[in-house]
Amino acid sequence: MAKHDHRRVIALDGPAAAGKTTVARELADLMGILLFDTGSLYRSVTLKALRKGVDLDDEKEVAKIARKAKIKLKKASIDDGRSADVLLDGDDVTWEIRQPDVDANVSKVAAYPTVREALLEVQRDNADGNAVVMVGRDIGTVVAPEAGTKIYLDATVEERARRRYQDMRRQGEDMDYVTVLDELRERDFKDSTRATAPLRAADDAIRIKTDGLDVEEIVGMIEKIVRERWAE
Ligand code: C5P
Repeated sequence: MAKHDHRRVIALDGPAAAGKTTVARELADLMGILLFDTGSLYRSVTLKALRKGVDLDDEKEVAKIARKAKIKLKKASIDDGRSADVLLDGDDVTWEIRQPDVDANVSKVAAYPTVREALLEVQRDNADGNAVVMVGRDIGTVVAPEAGTKIYLDATVEERARRRYQDMRRQGEDMDYVTVLDELRERDFKDSTRATAPLRAADDAIRIKTDGLDVEEIVGMIEKIVRERWAE
């Protein structure tokens, strides 16, 4: 018996703005299972470090924050487009962690091995024995390498930038498309070249290229795969 039971974990990895969160939310709703967006953890640590004025180049200080921060992901309590409530030391930071200053700094924070280590256990605890869609970069490779289903969602960087730009406009953020595109390229580069748990598809992940597909189609494809596996 494996130490962790991750048979009903759906690992949903891929680069920023590939549609993971939207797809995960629809899939979780449709199948009546849990959703755990691990990016919220790295984002919360980044927000806390920014709020406290900690030097983000100081791994030790940032790791201290990661170890101490009390981050909870709860079922959405407000119907404002969120997929979960993100609580940082009791405060609702669901939208604050999506602001551009967090976007711009989160990859640096997430590259620190000591920060990743501090956030690993909470991720594994939430995966263990649960039917859950876990969204991230390294779920299929590091957090839950024994996940029963591994999906790697991808799309061209231009398509992802277009989606992110539209999302930001909807949220009232004033940013131009080229800035969004540059920021995504930068984040892709940092996430995929870091030494610890870089962004990559697990060898046994199913890759879905989402350009030109709508959310329903992607969710339908994944649901079919998952139901077949769970029926085995
Ligand atoms: O998915 P999201 O865009 O919210 O993730 C924010 C950042 O958190 C990513 O760009 C990446 O640097 C980091 N992250 C990570 N590993 C995860 C999830 C997110 O390194 N499992």
